[in-house]
Amino acid sequence: MAFRRSGIYKTADELRRLVAPGLLTAASLDAVQSAVRPGVSTLELDAVAEAVIRDGGGEPNFMLVPGYRHTVCASVGDEVVHGIPGARVLAAGDLVSVDSGAQLDGWNGDSARSFVLDDAGRPDVVAERRRLNEVTEQSLWHGIAALASASHLNEVGGAIEDYIDGQGDFGIIEDYTGHGIGRSMHEDPPVFNYRVRGRGPAVRPGLVIAIEPMVTSGGIDTVTHDDGWTVTTRDGSMAAHWEHSIAVHDGGIWVLTAQDGGAAGLAPLGVTPVRIA
Ligand code: MG
Ligand code: MG
Repeated sequence: MAFRRSGIYKTADELRRLVAPGLLTAASLDAVQSAVRPGVSTLELDAVAEAVIRDGGGEPNFMLVPGYRHTVCASVGDEVVHGIPGARVLAAGDLVSVDSGAQLDGWNGDSARSFVLDDAGRPDVVAERRRLNEVTEQSLWHGIAALASASHLNEVGGAIEDYIDGQGDFGIIEDYTGHGIGRSMHEDPPVFNYRVRGRGPAVRPGLVIAIEPMVTSGGIDTVTHDDGWTVTTRDGSMAAHWEHSIAVHDGGIWVLTAQDGGAAGLAPLGVTPVRIA
């Protein structure tokens, strides 16, 4: 991933401009969440997300990535990230990750959610995939909660890793990271989903990042397919992916890509997000 080099701290006015694209990104995933079910193709989910973003006056920012022609990435089963929407029809029991982003008035949002579809005939498979999905989502909230009190950014990855290690046998993908976000979808600094050497940049008002843990039910090695995009686990294990864009501001943190700023997800962790003034 190429990062745009620039100062990583936004002004108060720039933070305010990130609110609308974050909410539009959230709305696109709300629509996907309402539409996802067995029998729907990943291309149909892509169209649902695109309609919401364009109706809101935005542009799908994934289309601004050279060579990519869709609004979302839809990654099914052992696909980790960057699955290309297409004719593939979702089946009962599928685990699908949908990653979406909106650019609005030159500013960006980026968020991902994963879904496990019901399958009455395979309750054990569904339960195992839902467990992976829940651990992945909760690892994101633990990372966001850590950001709220962190002095340096790499504390986020440490918190994600500690949480996942305590949940059982899961793998944290290390081939991809989160990132800063602003005028570009992908900016400095990288945001690790695991503990690394070094503290990373200071966490202070103006820092805006996308945290996006990718977690597997097996190993952490990945393979990129011949289409140049689709990334799968090497061992065929299932993978889930959750992502939010979060702003650090004078009053605290605010999850830009959640309609409630992250209040519901963070409440069990004792963190209250604060609206950007
Ligand atoms: Mg994303
Ligand atoms: Mg991202």
